[in-house]
Amino acid sequence: MKKHLLFLGAPGAGKGTQAELLSKANSYLHLSTGELLRKEIEMDTNLGRQVKDIINSGELVSDELVLKIVKQNLNKDNKGWILDGYPRNLSQANSLNKVLIEINQPIEVVFYLDIPEEVLIKRLLLRGRKDDTEDTIRTRVNIYKETTEPLIQYFKDLSLLEYIDGDRDLKTISSDIKQKMV
Ligand code: ADP
Repeated sequence: MKKHLLFLGAPGAGKGTQAELLSKANSYLHLSTGELLRKEIEMDTNLGRQVKDIINSGELVSDELVLKIVKQNLNKDNKGWILDGYPRNLSQANSLNKVLIEINQPIEVVFYLDIPEEVLIKRLLLRGRKDDTEDTIRTRVNIYKETTEPLIQYFKDLSLLEYIDGDRDLKTISSDIKQKMV
């Protein structure tokens, strides 16, 4: 059973939902950089105050800050983990690679949740999180296309990529993922 996983896909593709289901079912750590950052904002920490405006505008937080958060939260014991929302650009992917070599826990599979743009925009507008306004969504989707999408090819070249059609109902997607975990 694979236990070091990564979810890749546009905002609204369903990464968080699937990562949460899978991590609960297998007692893996679910590491969502977005969630961790939102928690910092909620708790009004120093870090939270630093990132609040950036997140609400739909821009990316600095590579340095997210790397720090990932390092702090990535378990060094033998429990499995699912990374969700990280890495988001090539520089983050390279940093992550270094960290994972250090702890000797390489990524075993990358699930790429693919979904048409119209569908994800509808989903995000329905979700209505603070950073889900029309303007912010546009920014996030553009950043995704420019900086995150190249990671699909990056992980494909490493033979780690599993394509998942994200435009289906939740259960069908999760059983598809489960089959590809073995
Ligand atoms: P979504 O996938 O719907 O965009 P997330 O919860 O993953 O939602 O991320 C929300 C916001 O948190 C992003 O728009 C960005 O500002 C910030 N963020 C999350 N992960 C990263 C990351 N790896 N690098 C930089 N910023 C990040």
